[in-house]
Amino acid sequence: MNTNLKSTLSTGLTRRDFLRMTGVTAAAFAMPSFLSGSGYAANPGVTSMSATAQNQVNTDILVIGGGMAGAFAAVSAKEMGLNVTLVDKGTVGRSGATPWANTFSVFDEALGHDRDEWISGVRSSSEYVNNLDWLDQMLDASQDRWDDINAWGLLDEDVRHPSLVLRDKLVDSGVELIERTMLTTLLKEEDGNGDGNGRVIGAMGFSIDSEEAVVVLAKATIMCAGAGSFKAPGFPIQSLTSDGDAMAYRAGAIITGKEWIDFHWTSAETPASCWNQWSGMWDSGIGKTDSVFTSGMTLDSAFAIHTGDTSLAMTGGGPEAGGPPEGDMPEGDRPSGPPPGEEGDGEAPSRPGQSSGEQVLGAATGLGIHKAEGIWPTTMQGACNVPGLFAAGDGLASMLCGSSYVGLGFSLTASATQGVTAGQSAAEYAQQMAAPTLSDDKIASVQTAMFAPRERESGFSPAWVTQVMQNAMFPYFVLFVKQQDRLEAALSTITFLRETMVPRLTAKDAHELRLAHETENMLLNAEMKLRASLFRTESRGTHYREDYPARDDDAWLAWVLLQMDENGQMSVTKEAIPDEWKPDMSVPYEERYLNRFPGELEYLGLA
Ligand SMILES: Cc1cc2nc3c(=O)[nH]c(=O)nc-3n(C[C@H](O)[C@H](O)[C@H](O)COP(=O)(O)OP(=O)(O)OC[C@H]3O[C@@H](n4cnc5c(N)ncnc54)[C@H](O)[C@@H]3O)c2cc1C
Repeated sequence: MNTNLKSTLSTGLTRRDFLRMTGVTAAAFAMPSFLSGSGYAANPGVTSMSATAQNQVNTDILVIGGGMAGAFAAVSAKEMGLNVTLVDKGTVGRSGATPWANTFSVFDEALGHDRDEWISGVRSSSEYVNNLDWLDQMLDASQDRWDDINAWGLLDEDVRHPSLVLRDKLVDSGVELIERTMLTTLLKEEDGNGDGNGRVIGAMGFSIDSEEAVVVLAKATIMCAGAGSFKAPGFPIQSLTSDGDAMAYRAGAIITGKEWIDFHWTSAETPASCWNQWSGMWDSGIGKTDSVFTSGMTLDSAFAIHTGDTSLAMTGGGPEAGGPPEGDMPEGDRPSGPPPGEEGDGEAPSRPGQSSGEQVLGAATGLGIHKAEGIWPTTMQGACNVPGLFAAGDGLASMLCGSSYVGLGFSLTASATQGVTAGQSAAEYAQQMAAPTLSDDKIASVQTAMFAPRERESGFSPAWVTQVMQNAMFPYFVLFVKQQDRLEAALSTITFLRETMVPRLTAKDAHELRLAHETENMLLNAEMKLRASLFRTESRGTHYREDYPARDDDAWLAWVLLQMDENGQMSVTKEAIPDEWKPDMSVPYEERYLNRFPGELEYLGLA
């Protein structure tokens, strides 16, 4: 690895150049009076480009994200003798979803597991829009990955935290870690036309502490940046904002699975109290779980509130306060306690209203189904339509699960199994590639766009724009109980924010710069979710359309694909699943699909 510290001044870019390039004049910075008090404000922390420095790293493999997928990808590539650099916007082991997970699914015929039974359970829970090849891969490799995490020490008694042991493993393996550095942009090789349509050759971002730009040039890049929500209060993945999907989409990758919706619930009276349902998970060790198919985890609680049909309510069957949902905690866990940094007596912290009232969906608003949204793979090793870019884990739409989350523990296991195949495949690819280079001009233009919110002398704060986005996306009747007019209304707000507010986001420090990029990425995710939801004119699994309340197997045994077209617009298409994976159409509809949507049988004339 070759690390250079270069001054941004070496790009020759001055503040005057920046203003000229972006077509912004001083007059444009004057605050319109009608906007004062609307979130629009002068930026007290405005900085100039020359205030930032730049670090450049040259490596073989860049891994973006240090959760379970990124760790396995990095270690696997390293074991093949390559230089591996892993960049995480948080601290590895304390960021993303992995530290919260405590069940790991292992398929083991010696324990009496029946492969056909598992496959059949996954197919029906997924409602037939899952990918059986990726399921096979997970079933084949789950025992090996369990043995790995055991050998790495994650399962030892009294470990500080399994995810911190994961970090130790990365360091011991010789993986270069760059932490608290947010990557914002995938870098692409400049082709003969200089239009940047070549392979991915790394990524660029900035240090959240020093605000220095960071350029990582790599022969292959593995996206393991996880999933994303809209920073829902109380749900513990505020750091996940669909950055990987957004970076990949902007680089030309196909994204899929955006219409599927996470089912986690919270109290209808005090939405933020969902924290109580997760706090115990941080402290518990990882346990092996048998397959527990989750076909019951549909949208019933939202339906209950929506339809007033209390027979659907989850107040009795919902999660217990202070712990994960029933059946989710493996035997032999350590006692739950407060998260690190919080004082407590070993009991989960209580919040007002934690278990009172109806449960409503939306705890993780914006999140999709693990392993069923993200970058669309073109190979079983996580390569995609953009050369040089691989993906694994929650950021890879392997479709191991389909329209619903299918098995407890599947997420963590599949992040591990997919991480290994992506790491090995990216390493083989990198071995064929020469070290990439990128012109100073290209780096300067990416850097200019990245730091633009720090340059603006006035504009909208990311917190304000995020809050407006949340107002549009959080209500359960947008993403959980969908309907065309409501989806279009939300889309109108989201596209306005993206087109009008994103170019005017300000950041007074590096923390706000991170929020600005997260806001932009969440808005892109919101647009993807709304467009995919509008496009799929049926109901299936966690996708419930009030105006199309039944499955439509003739039209929709298919995946919805999103890609940026040549005009920069989001194209939406579909791809049929292979015929051999379709359900037996001779089985009557009511038997083919056991979960009922409100209004479904009436709509089909079967009531
Ligand atoms: C509360 C909760 C409980 C869960 N319980 C279970 C369970 O018991 N069993 C199970 O199987 N699954 C569970 N899951 C799901 C499981 O945790 C995830 O599917 C899995 O951990 C995903 O791993 P990953 O490596 O793909 O992503 P993550 O672990 O989310 O890692 C992504 C990493 O990417 C980094 N990153 C993101 N954006 C950037 C960027 N722009 N630049 C640099 N770095 C970036 C993040 O900081 C993070 O460290 C749970 C999830 C949650 C939220």
